[in-house]
Amino acid sequence: MRSAVATDPGRRRRHNEDAFVCDPPLFAIADGMGGAQAGEVASGLAAAVLSESGGEGLGQDRVASLIQEANRRVFQRANEDAAASGMGTTMTVALVDASTGSIAIGHVGDSRAYRVRDGSLEQLTDDHSLVGELVRSGKLSEAEAESHPQRSVITRAVGTEPEVDVDTFTVQAEPGDLYLLCSDGLTDMIPDREILALVDVDDLDGAARALVDGANAGGGEDNITVVLFALEPGVDEAGVAAGETARMPAAQDPAADEEDTLSGLDPIPAVDTAVVPAAAIAEHLERAEAEAARPSPRRSILPLLLLVLLIVAIALLAIWGLSR
Ligand code: MN
Repeated sequence: MRSAVATDPGRRRRHNEDAFVCDPPLFAIADGMGGAQAGEVASGLAAAVLSESGGEGLGQDRVASLIQEANRRVFQRANEDAAASGMGTTMTVALVDASTGSIAIGHVGDSRAYRVRDGSLEQLTDDHSLVGELVRSGKLSEAEAESHPQRSVITRAVGTEPEVDVDTFTVQAEPGDLYLLCSDGLTDMIPDREILALVDVDDLDGAARALVDGANAGGGEDNITVVLFALEPGVDEAGVAAGETARMPAAQDPAADEEDTLSGLDPIPAVDTAVVPAAAIAEHLERAEAEAARPSPRRSILPLLLLVLLIVAIALLAIWGLSR
C-alpha cells in the first residue's frame, strides 16, 4: 500500500480545522466545525480516537464503531466545555483489508471519498449536506448545487448529538485503483474533472500537493486536506509504509485568533458550516428565503430620505418665493 497526504489552511483562514489519519491500513479525514477553535478540537478528538484504536478488527462494523466512539468523545467534550458547545466534525474513514483487497468505508458529513479507476473519477460517498439532499431528490441540479448559498450546511455531523447515523459500505479494490479522501475545501474550489486531471497514481505525493495547490488557485476559501492511497498487487505486510498521524500545530496565541477569517483580504466572509437535520431542510430553506425576501434597512430608508429631500426643496422654494 502506498499513501500520501497534504493539508493546508487555505488562503482565507488562519486555522486549519481539518484533521487526518494516514496510518495504513486506516485512513481518515475529519473537518471540524464550531465557534472559536472548537472545530479543531472536534476534528482532533475524532482523529485521536482512530489513532489510539490499535490494529484489531476489520470491516464495516469496525469502521462504524470507531465513528460511534468518536461521536461519544466529541459530544461529551462539547457538553463539558462551554467554549466547545455545539462543536462537531465530519468523518470519512477507509479501512483496507490488504489480504482480500476490500475497503470498508464509513462516512458522516460532506467530506468525500473518491475512487479513480480506468481514467475516471467516481464519488463513493453521498454528501450529508443540504444541497446533497436536494440534488438526490431531484430538486436541484449539480450545477446549481455548486454555487448554492447554503452549500456549507450539513445534515449530519459527528459529536452534535448523542447518537449518529453512519453510512457504511465496502468496495473491492483492483490493481491500479487510486483512492482519495478529501475535505470540502478541495471539492468546493475545483470541479471533479480538474481533480481527475491532477491525480497521478504513480506519484501520490506530487498529486497530493497538486490538489492542494489547485484548491488554493481556485480561491482557497477553506482548509484543504487530501489523503491518497493505492494498493499494489503482491506487496506483503513488510512493504506497508510507516504510519503517520498529524495535526496542524496549535495556534501560537489563541486569544488573538477569535476571528477565523484572515484580515487584509477581499471582504468575502468564510462560510461557516452549520448542521441542519435532513428532516428540517424544508423549514430551513423557507426561513432562508423569507430572510432573503425581507427588505434590508438600507433599502427601506431610501424612500424616506427622498421624502425629506422633497420637503426641504419645497420649503426652500417657498422661502425663496416669499423673499421675492
Ligand atoms: Mn471544510
